[in-house]
Amino acid sequence: MSNTAPEKPWLLTPGPLTTTRTVKEAMLFDWGSRDSEFIDMCAYVRDHLVELVHGEDRYATVCMQGSGTFAIEATIGTLVPPTGKLLVLVNGAYGHRMVKIAKTLGRKVAFGEWAEDQVPDAATVGQLLEQHADATHVAIVHCETTSGILNPIEDIAALVAEHGKPLIIDAMSAFGAIELDSRKTPFAAVVASTNKCLEGVPGMGFAIVRKSDLSECQGNCHSLALDLYEQWVYTDRTGQWRFTPPIHVIAAFQQALREHSTEGGVAGRGARYANNCRVLVGGMRELGFETLLPDEVQAPIIVTFKEPGDAKYDFAAFYEYLREKNFVIYPGKLTEAASFRMGCIGALDETHMRGAVDAVRWAMSQLGMSSGAPPAA
Ligand SMILES: *Cc1c(COP(=O)(O)O)cnc(C)c1O
Repeated sequence: MSNTAPEKPWLLTPGPLTTTRTVKEAMLFDWGSRDSEFIDMCAYVRDHLVELVHGEDRYATVCMQGSGTFAIEATIGTLVPPTGKLLVLVNGAYGHRMVKIAKTLGRKVAFGEWAEDQVPDAATVGQLLEQHADATHVAIVHCETTSGILNPIEDIAALVAEHGKPLIIDAMSAFGAIELDSRKTPFAAVVASTNKCLEGVPGMGFAIVRKSDLSECQGNCHSLALDLYEQWVYTDRTGQWRFTPPIHVIAAFQQALREHSTEGGVAGRGARYANNCRVLVGGMRELGFETLLPDEVQAPIIVTFKEPGDAKYDFAAFYEYLREKNFVIYPGKLTEAASFRMGCIGALDETHMRGAVDAVRWAMSQLGMSSGAPPAA
């Protein structure tokens, strides 16, 4: 990508990610939080995000200062009333995080769990919904960044809607690259952040919430600052934020959203990432590496590779060699198998992915490794 900043390193991580030079340049000005130019920026961002889910006038975006987790905590704390109960469908660390958030907020919570390389299946989800008929809300992660698995969000949303329960989706690592259409996937709220597939800088999360749900949430939230209802009402009334907004993050985000449109929106961005993923996985397989997931459930977001069985392999040294070639990878997050992860998202294209595979080949030769194959089972 010609627009990609020449500054290194390249981040092959699940976020924050490599951003374009133009996104960074959008932060070179200072605006007051009541400046009309800034207020217009916020309106652009909020409306644009609703358009991405085809939410028309049924949905509203509520922005929240902080990282993605702040927005998830705000959403759970505001939507699920103190007397409510959240049922979480878990197949990785981010599902578990939602369980922990609900517990921390003193909400009743139940969860069903699948292995990290398995998607939640309709039969079991159906059983859980009957078993926890008292659950007021259901939550699931769209792409579980733990493994990189893509959950069948449309099917699950339909099932949850059949049971009449509002669905909260953590789409943090997929939003903007994998379609999420509110007309096909009924949800009460989808939560994401600036710094993943939308390629902005970190500092803000947001929830796109169904207005008919949100309008009933006054007084639910345990927190003053994380109250999504109050944030929504105040912004709708004044165009402003209740507390200091992350102004430069929003300026960069507006530019990032324009670049997202220019690339062809969700389809265009998703196509580049899918190509990145294909090139990366193909190159790594040639070196003997194996992916945790079969291609059918692999999201083109982040790929988990099994640790090589070669006795010369050492993650810390491998990481440092790649870093020397300006590629930053990510440790594994699986509870079961030893692994590491490489992302295909951010302002990077297939040239970078080939560069990453070349760097891996070089790191292997420095370590004296002959193959990236995992240990024989
Ligand atoms: C990145 C991510 C989050 C949020 O992480 P933060 O570090 O708080 O930004 C939440 N869920 C998923 C699935 C993620 O990938």
